[in-house]
Amino acid sequence: MVIAIPVAAAFYLADFHSLRAQEEHAAQLAAEVLRRAHRVSGQIDSAVKTLTAAGSAEPCSHANLHLMSRTSAENPYLVAIGYVRNDRLMCSAFGTHGAGIALGPPTLRSKLGNPVWNAVSLPGISENKFMVAVDGVSGYAAILAQDGPIAVESAEPDANHGLYNLRTRRVLAARGNFHPDWAQHLGERSDVQFFDGAFVVALKRSDHYDYAAFAAIPADRLHEGWISLIFVLVPLGIGAGILLALLMLRYSKYQSSLPAQLRQGLKNNELYLVYQPIVELASGRWVGAEALLRWRRPNGEMVPPDIFIPIAENNSLMDKVTARVIALFAKDAAHLLHAHPGFYIGLNLSARDFETPHATEHLRQALAQWSIGPASVHVEVTERLLVNNAASQHSMQTLRDMGIPIALDDFGTGYSSLSYLTTLPLDYIKIDKSFVETIGTGAVTSEVIAHIIEIGKSLKLGMIAEGVETTAQADYLRTHGVQFAQGWLFSRPMDIAQLHDGIDHPHAPPPATPG
Ligand code: C2E
Ligand code: CA
Ligand code: CA
Repeated sequence: MVIAIPVAAAFYLADFHSLRAQEEHAAQLAAEVLRRAHRVSGQIDSAVKTLTAAGSAEPCSHANLHLMSRTSAENPYLVAIGYVRNDRLMCSAFGTHGAGIALGPPTLRSKLGNPVWNAVSLPGISENKFMVAVDGVSGYAAILAQDGPIAVESAEPDANHGLYNLRTRRVLAARGNFHPDWAQHLGERSDVQFFDGAFVVALKRSDHYDYAAFAAIPADRLHEGWISLIFVLVPLGIGAGILLALLMLRYSKYQSSLPAQLRQGLKNNELYLVYQPIVELASGRWVGAEALLRWRRPNGEMVPPDIFIPIAENNSLMDKVTARVIALFAKDAAHLLHAHPGFYIGLNLSARDFETPHATEHLRQALAQWSIGPASVHVEVTERLLVNNAASQHSMQTLRDMGIPIALDDFGTGYSSLSYLTTLPLDYIKIDKSFVETIGTGAVTSEVIAHIIEIGKSLKLGMIAEGVETTAQADYLRTHGVQFAQGWLFSRPMDIAQLHDGIDHPHAPPPATPG
């Protein structure tokens, strides 16, 4: 898969690029045809003007024939000038033609009604075929080489190109074939390029005359360009695919070995706790701190808890991790908690910890061993993971009975119904960071936090707002009745010594924003 996709992408790119290149090529050719046709049309117009200005009463007079040859010499795209009456060429720079050479019905008439013949034979004068364009009013005719208006030197022999009349879609002059269906693609546009399965076609409309130029490059040309691109792109695609495959392999190895590494990490004491202060909003005082688990691998790499906690949960390691958290907490914090009896440390327990009595038992033993009072520890349990079952309610009740306050973490992100919440033994809710972030943004979701605060009040629970980063957020929360907060505005997580120091040397709370 990983190799096939980049290779498929290489093929697609090659297709795309060779098509683009040929479209560009056709568009250039059509533009060149049109430029040449404009020059020819300009010379026809100017020749007709010169002759009508002379105003000879006898178009085929000797003097007028002389003027015709002089005028055609001045307009090199014109082979000759002549005079047409009733679809017969009466005379031309080649001489007078007696009763006239019958031209037959015109190939088409222009918008102004001027007739055009596109394959005229002039027997006795030349073997070649000519194009004859006549000014309907004066009868003066421009005689051109049949492909005169479109003879573009740069065109390759296999590139069809020419001019067609926009109204009738009939060809005025062409090398190679023109399919009248192509003309539909132009619509009202000034130019268009497309691929019809056999040809890459470009059309370009004249802004002066009622014709358009076309150029059509056969599909084989696409393959030529394609082959040379494929030789470059496919190896690149394969290379990218192999690289991607190797990276994925490495990542999946890393993933699959994480549980083993976590087991090792527990043995090698690679896990430790940091503490983020919880602040009373009214005073700025630190009233507690949340213990957050950290894992530093021997190579120095930090694995975030959002990664390793789920791994512990899914690999029956949660018991061990929580036991370690409790042991680390007690050893770290006993001294601080003895010194500051009102202060507490919040511990995060996973939903798994509530399904068995192990975590509760460990905590009971640790508190007893280190003489820590139950009010000095809070337990946080996330709403999202809290399953509505008897075992977890029992664990919560046991903790409550021990005198340990319980906080519902990430409040608002779960789907618990309000009636369910009233049945749980809770003391605090922690308002999730995602709601705090919306304060003052004017987003529709910013309404939600006001409702969450109301719910907290009506359930008579203490409220701790998480992830507070700005004074505006802190002001809003305080004025709306939220008592506690934690977040980078107040402090980042720190080690236990820094926490102890911060409690002993309180600093001024961040200033409230005026207004
Ligand atoms: P949580 O319990 O919601 O923890 C709060 C998270 O928000 C922490 O991330 C904290 O560092 C971060 N935080 C605090 N203030 C701010 C702020 O102002 N801005 C921002 N952007 N973030 C802030 P952390 O430490 O990465 O923890 C992530 C999650 O991992 C925790 O979410 C918790 O669910 C879990 N966790 C952490 N430690 C433990 C533990 O000991 N046991 C268990 N079971 N889970 C833990
Ligand atoms: Ca928490
Ligand atoms: Ca949280």
